[in-house]
Amino acid sequence: MKALDELTFDNRFARLGDVFSTSVLPEPITEPRLVVASDAALALLDLDHEQAELPVFAELFSGQKLWAEADPRAMVYSGHQFGSYNPRLGDGRGLLLGEVYNDAGEHWDLHLKGAGQTPYSRMGDGRAVLRSSIREFLASEALHALGIPSSRAACVIGSTTPVWRETQERAAMVLRLAKSHIRFGSFEYFFYTKQPERLKELADHVLRLHYPQALEAEEPYLAMFTEIVERNAELIAKWQAYGFCHGVMNTDNMSVLGITFDFGPFAFLDDFDQKFICNHSDHEGRYSFSNQVPIAQWNLSALAQALTPFISVDALREAIGLFLPLYQAHYLDLMRRRLGLTTTEDDDSKIVTGLLQLMQNSGVDYTLFFRRLGDESAEVAVNRLRDDFVDRAGFDAWAEVYKARVARESAGTEAQRQVRMHAVNPLYILRNYLAQRAIEDAEKGDYQEVRRLHAVLCNPFKEQAAMDSYAQRPPDWGKHLEISCSS
Ligand code: AMP
Ligand code: MG
Repeated sequence: MKALDELTFDNRFARLGDVFSTSVLPEPITEPRLVVASDAALALLDLDHEQAELPVFAELFSGQKLWAEADPRAMVYSGHQFGSYNPRLGDGRGLLLGEVYNDAGEHWDLHLKGAGQTPYSRMGDGRAVLRSSIREFLASEALHALGIPSSRAACVIGSTTPVWRETQERAAMVLRLAKSHIRFGSFEYFFYTKQPERLKELADHVLRLHYPQALEAEEPYLAMFTEIVERNAELIAKWQAYGFCHGVMNTDNMSVLGITFDFGPFAFLDDFDQKFICNHSDHEGRYSFSNQVPIAQWNLSALAQALTPFISVDALREAIGLFLPLYQAHYLDLMRRRLGLTTTEDDDSKIVTGLLQLMQNSGVDYTLFFRRLGDESAEVAVNRLRDDFVDRAGFDAWAEVYKARVARESAGTEAQRQVRMHAVNPLYILRNYLAQRAIEDAEKGDYQEVRRLHAVLCNPFKEQAAMDSYAQRPPDWGKHLEISCSS
């Protein structure tokens, strides 16, 4: 483990120069204080929890003090927002402080969100409020614990700095970690501003640092793009299988690493609903839960467009064509596991879609259904669960098919099936109402609840004594919380 001043920097992105990012100093917030830290994320920097408790930690992780080797930069990018091209975005409130490498030799971007205005702030104040910082922190760490690739979050630092949204709030910052903050929109920026040489530099940078195996291929750029397609297919399959709704899948919020990135009005489904829209500003439902699949493919096409100077259109088309079949294979595999199945049969996808349709019609809790299905033998579990369905006859028919399907599984005993299912079906997810409860306390200066919730979410599959209340369906007030874009 290291002390705070022992972090080692190697600012590879900054070295690409001023065309790719602009040097900006963070604008400090007043009275920075630790709201919550993730020990698991800090460990990626070889830091332990004791460091987080030091006053200098809050100063460093809010940009009030800087490491001598840090080189804070706002990255330039553009992107398609809700389907329309916006030629100029960029880090309007985020700063890449630098890249740190740990003892295992891994590089991690230290990225501060809410660090003040930059040349890309447009009309914005460069700030983030406490509630959105807490939400990003909890979501990143919760997704990671579920096994869903995501940027990580080291901590949230709160302050007394006032910020105006609908009412006065307090500024906060989240310190985000990712192997890279390069987005689809970073490529789009250099493509649409007709800077092919810069575009190539960016592509070479990503290839060298993040897709080195693609360098061995006959067409390295194509191999890299193909892997981006593959990673996205797997990522979106995980979102769909676990009921995660991102909310703002603009191409500037899509990472070239295929990780969940840039959290806004995201939500995990409570009741199963294919048409669920978590972003209050998304009137058309462009980013509704079920649309995430075609939208991911659309976004890959936007990235492909930006790569046309290096890859033939036919090859790009072919690579994009891999997305849907790969997605479907990953998704079905995950859903089989969620149902406790280890073998494959031709009709398995019908079992999945049949169940989802029944859940949709009755507003069944998506997470708890799968958890409860693995609590007991299939026979006993379906008998208990049938009460949640309005269409009992429909559910009974499904249950017969499911039980027969389970009976054809040769893998192990009933008890083993239950263990297997509990290992993939979380009991605790980041429900909006849980986040809201923690946020309301934090806004009053009480950080216990956000810390407790974070701890629960770090272990989503293991039943935790005395944490029953975190596994409950939302109360009425928690069902329709309205959450909009940037805050
Ligand atoms: P987002 O919806 O958070 O992905 O942000 C879209 C764009 O708006 C990005 O370029 C952000 O940096 C910028 N942005 C969002 N909120 C602010 C803010 N409060 N101040 C300045 N820029 C912002
Ligand atoms: Mg963004």
